[in-house]
Formats: sequence, structure tokens, C-alpha cells
Amino acid sequence: MTACSTSTHTVQWHARPEQEPTAPTEPAWSVEAVQGLLDKPFMDLLFQAQSVHREHWPAGEIELATLLSVKTGGCPENCGYCPQSAEFETGVKAEKLMSVQEVTRAAQAAKDAGATRFCMGAAWRAPKDRDIEKMNELIGAVKGLGLQTCATLGMLQPHQAQSLREAGLDYYNHNLDTAPEYYRDVVSTRQYQDRLDTLQAVRDAGISVCCGGIIGMGEEVVHRAGLIAQLANMDPYPESVPINSLVRVPGTPLADSEPVDPLDFVRVIAVARITMPKARVRLSAGRQQLGEAVQTLCFMAGANSIFYGDKLLVTGNPDVEADTTLMRKLGLHGLRASVAG
Ligand code: SF4
Repeated sequence: MTACSTSTHTVQWHARPEQEPTAPTEPAWSVEAVQGLLDKPFMDLLFQAQSVHREHWPAGEIELATLLSVKTGGCPENCGYCPQSAEFETGVKAEKLMSVQEVTRAAQAAKDAGATRFCMGAAWRAPKDRDIEKMNELIGAVKGLGLQTCATLGMLQPHQAQSLREAGLDYYNHNLDTAPEYYRDVVSTRQYQDRLDTLQAVRDAGISVCCGGIIGMGEEVVHRAGLIAQLANMDPYPESVPINSLVRVPGTPLADSEPVDPLDFVRVIAVARITMPKARVRLSAGRQQLGEAVQTLCFMAGANSIFYGDKLLVTGNPDVEADTTLMRKLGLHGLRASVAG
């Protein structure tokens, strides 16, 4: 994953009173401008995205990412897409935090398989300080193996982000999911601003940001544009941008959502690439349902990271052999990493 140290965006995306500019500046990307990209003729959009991609990234290189759920299920939040919420009957059982030994074993196996980074996901609304202490132990153990570390733990207080950083955390995943205007249709147990506050705390602590969203939750095109504008206007924008296609898990409120048109999903990938040229754009959840041809279009549109392995937290993912075969067919080569998103 490459840090976007050369971002030219100048707008403070999460304005804090003491940092308000004296004269308002235009956002780098208005929602209208992003929607204009989403509405472009498909081939023009793909050509533009591929051109931007080749300008900033080696052609044919795909980051292979894996993710370990260190604390599964029983989450008090009600994210409408998530089988780990305690509010929904999805068959996911609540488990306690894995031990240092278990996580170290998994991290060692990931390293042996070529991983350079190891991500730990925990289904918490917001970790308590004692949870952070335990996570710090896990982070220290993973770091001790010579791996980069990444975590996704829910909302953080600034002192918690600082503590994680001091323990050796390199990356933090925290998705915005959708546009601010559509957020209440997806989750009601927290506010959009809570997400922005955590992302700011992560940035302020010096941790790199992994942040993206989900397509196919019943949102309009303007909401997709709103999500991308939010991400692209962060200063700097996230180093890593996971774009998920909703996995409609039975028992979740969004289980009956209309399936997203695959070409519209490709459009979102392309627009993420154009607006955030130096971010890793990660083809994340829902890849299993896209099939080879649509995944190929996503790579063409600038996706340069995928989740690798047969499980993504608690939902399915294409198996390793299928991925290897597709990459061979396309002449792509993998860059191994274990990251969140
Ligand atoms: S997405 Fe995260 S915060 Fe939301 S219910 Fe699932 S585990 Fe909890």
C-alpha cells in the first residue's frame, strides 16, 4: 500500500473550529462533479480511469489482502448490511477476543504465505480502554513477527488511537459506507460525524487510513457520488479505499436489496480511481458474485487490490485457486499484503 503523500487536495475535510479557513475554499470534488463522472459514457469513463491508473501505478500489479476476525459477532451496532450485529438473526455466533497465541499463529501463517501486513477485525461498536490494551498486545505480537499491522475495531477516542499507534499500529480501517444523506437508511445507532471523528483521531495519531464504502444498499447514484466526494475530499484522501458490493446476507435488513447492476459497480471503481489516483482501490466484499468478466472490468477501471482467501470476516470470498487462475489469464501479478477493508 502506498501513502498518498503527494495529494494536491487543499480542503480540510473535517473542519474543526480552530482550523476553519478565513475564506471558504471549494471542495476538490463536488458531488455534482463526481456524479458527472459516474454518468459518463462507459467506455470514456473506463479509458479515463485506466489512463489515470497507469500514470500512478505499475500496470498489472494487484495487492493481495487478507483479514482475520479476532473478535466475531455480538456487535451492538445495527449496520443494515452486517451479519455480526447482535440485532439480527444471521446465525453468526458471538465469540470472545482471540488469544495472543492464536493470533500470533495466524499471523505467522500469513507471513509464511508471503504477507507483509496483517489486519485484525473486531466487531465492537467502540472498544473500551481495556480492549485497546488487549489489542495493543496483539499488535505488539504481530509487529514482533516483522509484519505491518492493521486493525478495524469500531469508533476510537483520540487517546485510544494514540495508544494503538504507540503499540505499533500502521493502518486503521473505518468505512464511511455511503453518503451522509443516506446514512440513516443504513445504520441508526451512530452518526456519520462519529465516523469522521474516528478518522480524524486516526489521522492525528499518525496512523494511515483505510476507508471506503458499500454499493448496492438501495442508494441512488447521487449517494454514490456523495460517498466518493467525501472520500476524495479528505486531506489527504485515504491510502486505501475498499469498495464493497453488498453481500445480501439473509437475516440482515438489507437482505432484499435490489442487486446492483455490475456495470454501475465498475463505474464506482473507475470514479474512485480518477478522484483518488494514488490510493489503493480495493475490490472488497461481494467479489464472489461479480464473476470473472466484471472483476476484469474492475481491474481495467483501476482496482489494484483484492481480498485474497476464502473468507472475508464472516462472508464468502472467491477461493485462492479461482483468483490465481483469473490473474494468470489476465497477466496480473500479486503483491502480497494482509490488510483491512
Ligand atoms: S459493521 Fe461493524 S459496527 Fe456495524 S454491526 Fe457489523 S461489526 Fe458492528
